[in-house]
Amino acid sequence: MNYNSTRNSSVEKTSKHAIANGISKEGGLFVPCEVPKLTLKQIEDMSKQNYRTIAKTVLSKFLTDFTADEIEACVNSAYTSKKFESDDIAPLHRLNGTASVLELWHGPTCAFKDMALQILPHLMMTSAKSVLDNKKIVILVATSGDTGKAALEGFRDVEGTSIMVFYPEDGVSKVQKLQMNTQEGENVSVCGINGNFDHAQSGVKAIFTDPAMIEKLAENNMIFSSANSINWGRLVPQVVYYVASYCRLIKNGEIKAGDKVNFVVPTGNFGNILAGYYAKMMGIPVNKLICASNSNNVLTDFINNGTYDKNRKFFTTISPSMDILISSNLERLIYELCGKDDKTVSDLMQKLAADGKYTVSDDVLSKIKESFVGGCCTDEQTLITIKETFEKYNYLCDTHTAVAVKVYSDYYNTTGDTTKTVIVSTASPYKFAGDVLSAVKSDADANDEFEVIDILEKISGTCAPKQLKSLKEKEVRFAKTCEKEDMKKVVLEGLNI
Ligand SMILES: *Cc1c(COP(=O)(O)O)cnc(C)c1O
Repeated sequence: MNYNSTRNSSVEKTSKHAIANGISKEGGLFVPCEVPKLTLKQIEDMSKQNYRTIAKTVLSKFLTDFTADEIEACVNSAYTSKKFESDDIAPLHRLNGTASVLELWHGPTCAFKDMALQILPHLMMTSAKSVLDNKKIVILVATSGDTGKAALEGFRDVEGTSIMVFYPEDGVSKVQKLQMNTQEGENVSVCGINGNFDHAQSGVKAIFTDPAMIEKLAENNMIFSSANSINWGRLVPQVVYYVASYCRLIKNGEIKAGDKVNFVVPTGNFGNILAGYYAKMMGIPVNKLICASNSNNVLTDFINNGTYDKNRKFFTTISPSMDILISSNLERLIYELCGKDDKTVSDLMQKLAADGKYTVSDDVLSKIKESFVGGCCTDEQTLITIKETFEKYNYLCDTHTAVAVKVYSDYYNTTGDTTKTVIVSTASPYKFAGDVLSAVKSDADANDEFEVIDILEKISGTCAPKQLKSLKEKEVRFAKTCEKEDMKKVVLEGLNI
């Protein structure tokens, strides 16, 4: 099975090409020509299997040019009990009679990006061997916090790769910054930029498609690739946990194979929730995909009225990984819903680049509404939700997850929909400990993030992940910042070319 580009349907590339290159030449994103299907019988059989086995089945359906041995090796290197604190990999925590929380943060960096970024380097190196004849892969990442650290952890010291991460200097939490600036590894570098996440992301995109930069790398036997969620190798591992959590609900007797479920997803770049949509296209019975946003509610408006308009105030919130006004992966959804019409997608994306907005047809909007519900909440509501969830269920959730909990609760109260629901939890509460603590105990007195973690452990009776607790002993290796205009220079200097 091959992959088209969202901006040129006549492009047909293997999954190895799509993963090694990240983005198509004309700027489109790679999408599968045809989404493989799972039968109910297969789903039922998978409900008796562990995460790794389910991952192998799902990945091999999409990555048909990988051999079974290659898939096996990639999965077995990524989802180990050494790297993931829970052997379940993605445990499901039952909250009440209808809702369960899918915890995607038991990996090395305590956030859901690990689910994809632990396996992506292996998928990429396997691909590079076949399609890039020994070129060195240069990974550029724009991050609003969690991607950067997760990518650094995934790629560190992976032979034949070099990774550079740009983050908005004032748009990430203290712990996130410390996690990145203390990163170990010989092939890594990290740089803050004076700008927001969208600046970092546009800067990286511009470097990727700059002919002079591409030429310069080629002269040095190097090639750019992306570990951002536009890379198909990021998206496809995320389909796995939608399938796996559905299977787990069957195993736990909460549903029967064939029953529909809702997924609530705290959303930024639209990568996570799009993976849920691919799971639905594969045959997982999904009622609604509920797209939860913070005050940067560009997606809520889009789902409700069909106009995507990024011309609005940008908010720096307490759920910073969702502080995004251009959700890159939406392009893939629109491509799927407008009948794979590359011309329509190209036009809309051109409008977005020129005017900062576009409107989809009524037909596309009604298809969006068939599958998606959009909701949003403020920081204040997020904090109240953390407190209430802790008091009611003795469950501590992080700020991003709390946005999803709140949007779900609004959805439940307005629709009365009692369909079993999976709330996707994207970060450990300890990763955003300051805000989480202020929500559950407003008079707590702590001098730094590490004291906050200690207090939170006492209050909740849970243990903080050791990789966060040990951060304070680590040496800061990177303290550089640059202007967004200077990103190209930083890249060339970093590569010594
Ligand atoms: C990245 C991230 C999100 C948003 O995921 P998208 O795939 O960009 O929609 C939500 N929560 C956390 C903690 C994240 O790191």
